[in-house]
Amino acid sequence: MRVGTRVVRLLASLALVLAPAACATSREGPGTDAASRAEVPETERAPDLAEHPTLFATLWQQTAAEYSAATMQAYDEASEVLPLALADSGWTAAVEQEGDDFSTLPPAVVLDVDETVLDNSPQQARTILAGGSFDPEVWGAWVAEARAPAVPGAREFLTLADSLGVAVFYVTNRDQPLEEATRRNLEAEGLPLDPEVDTILSRGEREGWGSDKTSRREAIAERYRIVLLVGDDFNDFISARLPREERDRLVERYRDRWGDRWIMIPNPTYGSWEGALYEEADDTPEERARRRLESLDDMRP
Ligand SMILES: [Mg+2]
Repeated sequence: MRVGTRVVRLLASLALVLAPAACATSREGPGTDAASRAEVPETERAPDLAEHPTLFATLWQQTAAEYSAATMQAYDEASEVLPLALADSGWTAAVEQEGDDFSTLPPAVVLDVDETVLDNSPQQARTILAGGSFDPEVWGAWVAEARAPAVPGAREFLTLADSLGVAVFYVTNRDQPLEEATRRNLEAEGLPLDPEVDTILSRGEREGWGSDKTSRREAIAERYRIVLLVGDDFNDFISARLPREERDRLVERYRDRWGDRWIMIPNPTYGSWEGALYEEADDTPEERARRRLESLDDMRP
């Protein structure tokens, strides 16, 4: 479908979009609302579900060979860079470590969890089919299932890192009470976990460990040389809850790190990129839906 046609169709169906889009945005992870699925008759539901804001992105993650190819490509790049990073004691991926003397510290790789090593698209699919939006309680129930599959390529890379004696840290904005289930899920997917050291650093696990991951990278950098960062969100690399122009400037400023010290995994479904679309005053679903359409660039003068 041509983009112009799609925009017209989106505008025409704005009223339909608004209900399922309510609170579906600016979240750290996907969610669902089983109750709403039960209450809405099948005949009324069908057109709304097809207009869910994350339908295309979720379909891409779940069905596109291109998605797996992109994540495998990213992790293959990480595997190729790793030996170079290990051989160079002056190499660090963390801006928090620059200027420190880290040359004698043991090496570590630091990865995000959701949409970086674990694929939560089944939960997103449930959300769409329920006509729902992110719900922390339902998200917690999904995490407790511990059934998220590994992102393609993650296991191979992490097995290599582990075999080379590199510590593997998972820095996640899953809340601390979800850590045990997260550990079970990572184990079930064959992803390396140190039995002695807590290598899952959750949000809120210690005082000062908020959504911004800087303090957790700093804690790791005290004892390890961070050779690679892997994530699906700019904030997995550097603080980037910033307006779009500033994020674009930061991407350029660090351009020689991408595919080198910093490995980005594609996630079109959610993330801080979406929050950057909105103004502070955009706090209703209607305003946010309008802002999404306004953010499209059709290059008309
Ligand atoms: Mg993530």
